[in-house]
Amino acid sequence: MQKKNKSKFSFIKVIGICLILILLSGVGVMAVTTKVNTVTIELSNGYEMTVLTSKTNVKEILEDNNIILESNEKVIPSTTEEITESKTIKITDKSEQEIEVAKISESGIEMTLENLLDAYTTITEKIEVVEETIPFETVTKDISGGSTNTKNKVLQQGVEGKKKVTYKVKYQNEAEIERTKISEEIIQEPVDKIIQVSSKTTSSRSSSSSRSSSTSSKTSGSTSGTSSVKVYKVTAYCACTKCCGAHANGYTASGTRATAGRTVAAPSNLAFGTKLNINGKTYVVEDRGGAIKGNRIDIYVSSHSQALAWGVKYLPVEVQN
Ligand SMILES: [Zn+2]
Repeated sequence: MQKKNKSKFSFIKVIGICLILILLSGVGVMAVTTKVNTVTIELSNGYEMTVLTSKTNVKEILEDNNIILESNEKVIPSTTEEITESKTIKITDKSEQEIEVAKISESGIEMTLENLLDAYTTITEKIEVVEETIPFETVTKDISGGSTNTKNKVLQQGVEGKKKVTYKVKYQNEAEIERTKISEEIIQEPVDKIIQVSSKTTSSRSSSSSRSSSTSSKTSGSTSGTSSVKVYKVTAYCACTKCCGAHANGYTASGTRATAGRTVAAPSNLAFGTKLNINGKTYVVEDRGGAIKGNRIDIYVSSHSQALAWGVKYLPVEVQN
């Protein structure tokens, strides 16, 4: 046991002497050559190591100490430089921005960190006020009562309005990238266009006494299924000899007694008994006449003066079946 302890002690002793010798020799070298430096290497994980070296090139110092840089690490001073007077080599992680720049550079786009920052800082905001038109609306007033035969009349023309709109506009490198409406102020309200839709018969009725050559009173008061309207040259006659000559006996060609307000003479294409609507009144075809051909109709009246007063009128005549 004792023997063993002794040998262990002497082993430590030897180690100690060796260390002293190494230290002495180191001091000796330092004393002899001033080119040996104590360099502090700061590692990226925060550890520091101090090395003695005669080298001054950063790359060589790192190599001598078996320090290999990772791809995401950088060294200050850089590996191509000599160590500075501080005699410190610092290894750090590259910042994220630097990695970003490196990636972009690798992809062939020449872009520095400054360029990147510039690109983000050149977004500018402007307030813009624009005058815009407000389209008018078209309003339809339907007074046709559901009629299928209608006409349109513009009662009021539409006028566009004006408004002042304020936008917040974002520009990046002078190109618009975003536009937000902040407010709008109406300068002038638009005026609606108003269209009145009416039945064609509505207006022709209201002007029924006029000398109308219109063929538009198609559905006027008709209760029957089919009807046709044609403009006729309408005259009047009485039972006198001036009007009827030899036939002036008060009876019609159909054998009925001529009656004012009912009897009309019509061409033979309109059969006896045919009802005609003239100016909203219903007459019956009961008579014929030598001059009543084509588009002519003669209305029976009770006196010759009334016949003269009527004169000649061109009126739409509706044949009711
Ligand atoms: Zn007469």
